[in-house]
Amino acid sequence: MNAIKSEILIAGGGIGGLAAALALARKGMRSQVFEKAPEFGEIGYGLQLGPNAHHMLMRLGIAREVEQTAVFPNALIEIDALTDRELTRISTGDVFRKHFGAPYMVVHRRDLHGALLDACRTHAGITLHTSKQLVGFDDRGASVQARFADGSAYSGAVLIGADGLNSCVRDAVMGDGPPRVSGHVTYRGVVPVDEIKDKSHFDDMVIWIGPGLHLVQYRLRGGTVMNNVATIDSPRFAAGHKNDFGGPEELLEMFSHTTPQVQAMLSYIGKDKNWVLCDREPRPDWSRGNATLLGDAAHPTLQYLAQGAVMAMEDAVVLAEKLDAAGADIPAALLAYQEARYLRTARVQLTSRIHGQIMHARGGARDLRNHLMSLRNPENFWEVDWLYRGI
Ligand SMILES: Cc1cc2nc3c(=O)[nH]c(=O)nc-3n(C[C@H](O)[C@H](O)[C@H](O)COP(=O)(O)OP(=O)(O)OC[C@H]3O[C@@H](n4cnc5c(N)ncnc54)[C@H](O)[C@@H]3O)c2cc1C
Repeated sequence: MNAIKSEILIAGGGIGGLAAALALARKGMRSQVFEKAPEFGEIGYGLQLGPNAHHMLMRLGIAREVEQTAVFPNALIEIDALTDRELTRISTGDVFRKHFGAPYMVVHRRDLHGALLDACRTHAGITLHTSKQLVGFDDRGASVQARFADGSAYSGAVLIGADGLNSCVRDAVMGDGPPRVSGHVTYRGVVPVDEIKDKSHFDDMVIWIGPGLHLVQYRLRGGTVMNNVATIDSPRFAAGHKNDFGGPEELLEMFSHTTPQVQAMLSYIGKDKNWVLCDREPRPDWSRGNATLLGDAAHPTLQYLAQGAVMAMEDAVVLAEKLDAAGADIPAALLAYQEARYLRTARVQLTSRIHGQIMHARGGARDLRNHLMSLRNPENFWEVDWLYRGI
């Protein structure tokens, strides 16, 4: 039985914040989640969940709910976007499942977030607030007081900053300025599967990779809709246009060198909105006193390993375990949590960057990549063992 008697305050009701509330509740700890938006929600696109995510969903008690709408691809395939040649694949069938003790799933973000939210609503120990934007906090030693934009204030034993990439809590704890802008820009689109012309990879998670670009495709929601994601390294950003880059004309220009099949897939992608990808250097000091960070607030990562949300869920489970075992020394528990998570999340951050460089390689680097990928055995998982085996 843990020694934490008062409530734990969580800023941010995304996947990380709700997972934290749920993990704490399952250990008997009460929490309040403060979301700045008027409603809890997620954007309407896909998420890949490696087997390490499934282990966390089991520990959060929502694996079955998430599985109901998840899709289980047969393989993770990379194809050269300039030649349409398959370069490599990881088979995610029985051998994979047995090896990792869990499946590879792809889910709609809203389905995962919805499962977390439903589970949080069933716990009397979790209070959910919307339209509550955290603007600051005071760590008083024995407690933390969180202040909100509407003038309200709440006190608790701990403040968890699960408030994403531009975290207000991070600003106070670490003060290290805005995240690093990568210059990589993503466009997304989800369309009914009837609209998809080429169905040759319907049962797989496929990435077409090319110089400075890639395009991901996989089905969601029981296979009824197709998630499409195109990413480019913006040439305008590289040329120094730091405030005006990554427009749809750059997307089309970059993809103009890919095969007609790949170019056709751009019609499934919305051109009116894009996401500029950011990350940070790994840092080991995201807990201070009674405040800590979790998920993108602590260790934002590029999406090339598809692990940002998974890391947030791992954080949540580990943080709840450390607080459960805390005794009276909460700052020590938060430091233990940070230590347990630091190098694993740092490895995800840095490997994601490298993986992006490999996917977007040009010239000789592309030739070498294609050769090395052709040597891979689809049922040898050593490259992803450290990640997918989980914690
Ligand atoms: C293109 C792309 C593809 C991706 N694909 C994958 C993938 O396949 N698999 C994967 O695991 N990850 C993926 N990710 C990463 C994943 O989306 C993030 O890592 C994850 O959503 C982080 O969750 P979070 O809860 O930490 O932060 P967020 O999702 O950003 O949630 C933060 C929440 O805090 C709220 N908030 C912000 N400020 C305040 C405040 N001051 N007060 C109160 N509330 C506040 C926000 O409104 C939001 O609800 C991808 C990311 C991108 C960009």
